[in-house]
Amino acid sequence: MTTLLFTHEACLNHDPGRMHPEHPARLKSVLAALSDPEFDALERREAPSATLEQIARVHPETMVRRILAAVPPHGLAAIDADTVMSPGTGEAVLRATGAAVAAVDAVLAGEARNAFCAVRPPGHHAEPMRAMGFCFFNSVAVAAAHARAVHGLARVAIVDFDVHHGNGTQAAFAATGGVFYASTHQMPLYPGTGARGERGVGNILNVPLHPMAGSEEFRQAYSEVILPALVNFDPDLLMISAGFDAHVDDPLASIALVTEDFAWITRELLRVADRVCDGKVVSCLEGGYDLQALGDGCAAHVRALLAA
Ligand SMILES: [Zn+2]
Repeated sequence: MTTLLFTHEACLNHDPGRMHPEHPARLKSVLAALSDPEFDALERREAPSATLEQIARVHPETMVRRILAAVPPHGLAAIDADTVMSPGTGEAVLRATGAAVAAVDAVLAGEARNAFCAVRPPGHHAEPMRAMGFCFFNSVAVAAAHARAVHGLARVAIVDFDVHHGNGTQAAFAATGGVFYASTHQMPLYPGTGARGERGVGNILNVPLHPMAGSEEFRQAYSEVILPALVNFDPDLLMISAGFDAHVDDPLASIALVTEDFAWITRELLRVADRVCDGKVVSCLEGGYDLQALGDGCAAHVRALLAA
């Protein structure tokens, strides 16, 4: 069985402006890296659009309609200083979320061992009632809720190695014991949440890293804290919020990871998934703002998924 790659060209048409770090060239860089012949074995699929019913499992229908109604016919429309829409944003957010949902369907149907969604905009800052931090709909959260509601999974785990805390994902599931959310992130840093004391109903595990932390601190956080807790949670499906902005070259943060760390964490997560959920893993692109580091990080991540 292979690895599925979900993407859609509409994800290139969300353009928050020339000076915005979350620009279309990010996804172009990822797709260029994954066009190397070593990735020929990927099974590439076009992402469908998420439905209102799917998104509404996390974001109330009023919020979804409000966001889609705010998409400007031309020019830009700002939700806040960071979170800006262009005419292509509506379809991009529906395809990004739809990719995560379709990837869950395919992996749970046994069509592939695992899947990567090369999509944008990212999702993990989007709270149930609030778009923020470059994010509109929380793709990973919607897909996790879909896995529980439609496929009847009792336990879904989400591991988030983006350098920013996934406040949106935490907010979506802080009271849902059937979803485990674990995150490493720089602290202090945007959005300011993610302290160790934020535990939800015992299902939230935050391991903040100090600015300038490197490979050793990152790997220790996983080896000693997150991976044992993940084994203990015993999920039926593992989802990954895969952000590559903890790389040393990233302009938005100051953690000092190297590309090999992304290969390492992917292999470690796959090892746990093999043990607890037959290797069923769905990963979605979140952040990563240095184009070279982002492309290299995604390649390292997907190389490990393919090798599983
Ligand atoms: Zn980030």
